Amino acid sequence: MDTLVLHTPASEFHAPPSGHPERVERQHAVMAGAPAAGARVEGWTSPAGRVALERVHVPAHVDQLFSAAPATGHVSLDADTHMSPGSLDAALQAAGAAIEAVDRVMDAAAEAVFVAARPPGHHAEPDRAMGFCLFNTVAIAAMHAIASRGLATAAVVDFDVHHGNGTQAFADTEPRLSFVSLHQGWIYPGTGAAHETGAHGNILNIPLESGTRGEAWLARFDDQVLPRLERDRPEFLLASAGFDAHRDDPLAGLALDEATFAAIGARLADAARRFSHSRLVCVLEGGYDCAALERSVEAFLGALKAG
Ligand SMILES: [Zn+2]
Repeated sequence: MDTLVLHTPASEFHAPPSGHPERVERQHAVMAGAPAAGARVEGWTSPAGRVALERVHVPAHVDQLFSAAPATGHVSLDADTHMSPGSLDAALQAAGAAIEAVDRVMDAAAEAVFVAARPPGHHAEPDRAMGFCLFNTVAIAAMHAIASRGLATAAVVDFDVHHGNGTQAFADTEPRLSFVSLHQGWIYPGTGAAHETGAHGNILNIPLESGTRGEAWLARFDDQVLPRLERDRPEFLLASAGFDAHRDDPLAGLALDEATFAAIGARLADAARRFSHSRLVCVLEGGYDCAALERSVEAFLGALKAG
């Protein structure tokens, strides 16, 4: 696919406290892997506006993040979610880049766009920040495709090792958005059981045992995710692209490797072509071993380009 990477300079200035796993070096790892894959790379600096944010989040949540951003030091929103002076701009730019990514694809300026931005977003629920996430970037992008670009449906495939509880909480109220997640079961955030199928039947959860390797992961994708996408034929395909299911990742216990992430990229490109008019936007989520993250992003983008 014709593949573009959009990165956000403000990611450099979202600085959780020292020792936090969601650190600026992650952005450097991603930006080292992207050119190695031969992808076009552009910076994006325009923030998302309130209309776009409030398609997913309640106004009180948006107000809280605008007022909580500190002038110095840190503000903690929960035990592991923090804002530094640059965090609000980083989160707004991440959402703005994801919206621009949808527009580039809709305007045929690219087939696939990878949004390389921090902080991640898939744990952010409509009314609260959590799990390193402030705004739900991927859901905001999906709703831009539906509400602003006039599409009837969109789908998010979440391959981060953690369940995307925030995206699921929103999809539970929005039948035009379907949500599919493969994740390690029974770890943070504790949601994502197979019986959680959503009030509208638009949610598919595939929890996996600790130690699951790439071959078994891909078999579940082929057996359950592809048939769901073929059935639903979402007009736009998005991915929550977390790389923390890598075997070297310190936060979880799945055992994928770079070759698995290449295979995931190839499958997403193929699914976007067959079912979703060659429209694909992937938004960076987790991935906390920087060496593994760099190699995994390179492998994933290389497969998207070739797909
Ligand atoms: Zn994660």
